Amino acid sequence: MPLPQSLRDFEKRWSHRNRPLDFSGVWRFRELLPFASDEQIVTIGEGQTMLKTSQPVARYVGVNDDGLFLQYEGLNPSGSFKDNGMTAASTHATMVGAKVAACASTGNTSASLAVYASVAQKFKVVVFVGSGKIAFGKLSQALDYGAKTIQIQGDFDDALARVREVCQTEGIYLCNSVNPFRLEGQKSIMYRVLEGLDWQVPDWIVVPGGNLGNSSAFGKAFMELKALGLIDRIPRLAIINAQGANTLYQLYEKEGLRWNGGRYDRDRSSDFFTKMDQEDRRASTLASAIEINRPVNFSKSLRALDVCDGIVREVSDQEILDAKAQVGAGGLGCEPASAASVAGARLLKEEGVIAAGDRVVCILTGHQLKDPNATVAYHSATDEHLDEKLMNHGVNKTPFSNGPIVVENDLDKIINVIRSF
Ligand SMILES: *Cc1c(COP(=O)(O)O)cnc(C)c1O
Repeated sequence: MPLPQSLRDFEKRWSHRNRPLDFSGVWRFRELLPFASDEQIVTIGEGQTMLKTSQPVARYVGVNDDGLFLQYEGLNPSGSFKDNGMTAASTHATMVGAKVAACASTGNTSASLAVYASVAQKFKVVVFVGSGKIAFGKLSQALDYGAKTIQIQGDFDDALARVREVCQTEGIYLCNSVNPFRLEGQKSIMYRVLEGLDWQVPDWIVVPGGNLGNSSAFGKAFMELKALGLIDRIPRLAIINAQGANTLYQLYEKEGLRWNGGRYDRDRSSDFFTKMDQEDRRASTLASAIEINRPVNFSKSLRALDVCDGIVREVSDQEILDAKAQVGAGGLGCEPASAASVAGARLLKEEGVIAAGDRVVCILTGHQLKDPNATVAYHSATDEHLDEKLMNHGVNKTPFSNGPIVVENDLDKIINVIRSF
């Protein structure tokens, strides 16, 4: 169809859900990411996600009961938002006849690329992961989907530098979010958010920031929709870093670096990275999906912040895990990195930047089951017994823990415990 006059026109495709491209939450909007013909598209039904209010999370954040929306991207086939982008990158990989595709990953990118390769059967996959840095839920996916997994000594930033070299010399198709087609696919997350709000623009989009692909894609989505006359205003964007991986926060908020029409002060950012190297400063956070100190989409994210009158905040691992427990108790749950969005929204409300009456959308980027270790460590902790890994990341209390209760296998004792709730 030609580009619609109104975003509402896309809704008509809901009645064609037996057609794979109309069923996909990404390709339903294919006129807004027009680089492939219908026959070329590789889809596995990604983007069947939903936007949901949560009264308990709204209260935790401090906004009106109906003002907090959670966009559950964990409902994607591989359990994270990465599938929105990987369907597009896989499509492009097959368009150019790639035989092998590769990525470096903190886990979700590799899980996503691996599932597309195993379904499409058109190219093989090599994934690079850092040592001891990957949550088991994610590693298990790459292994199970048949991806060749190379574990190198180092962290994500090391793995990414290496995979870029390998792709260059071996002619392998690179699927990290430097791949622009991934960002095209990830624009659809914002289309679905608007759809979930009956095409009304919210006041805030709050998203965790790692490699900054999502935030960059969101900015591009809104810029284009505005230019096409399909929306009349652009929401504000809040990108939330973990304190232990806060490059964007440092450069944008502390050093005041701005997009400046594309002529941003590159000396300032390269000085920052030189110093980071000299001090051998490594990213460190329990939110492993955003444990990244050298975001590849850094400059694009400056543009997104410019387009969306954006702001950046950092939150501690304590705040992230507390917010995660609140999301779990108040909805479908998420992995640690995702909860940075809710922790960030709460901080911005405290600061008075977000108002109680604002409509705030937090992006829950990954599924709760991706990283069960973090969840169990938090909930099993008591004031006397804290998990060592949590403590090493500054998490020294667990106000919302809900640990298993150990009871003797004795009916009366079990009933007594239940009656005491
Ligand atoms: C990849 C990922 C992020 C970070 O997204 P970027 O686009 O790299 O900023 C956040 N949360 C989860 C669960 C992820 O998988």
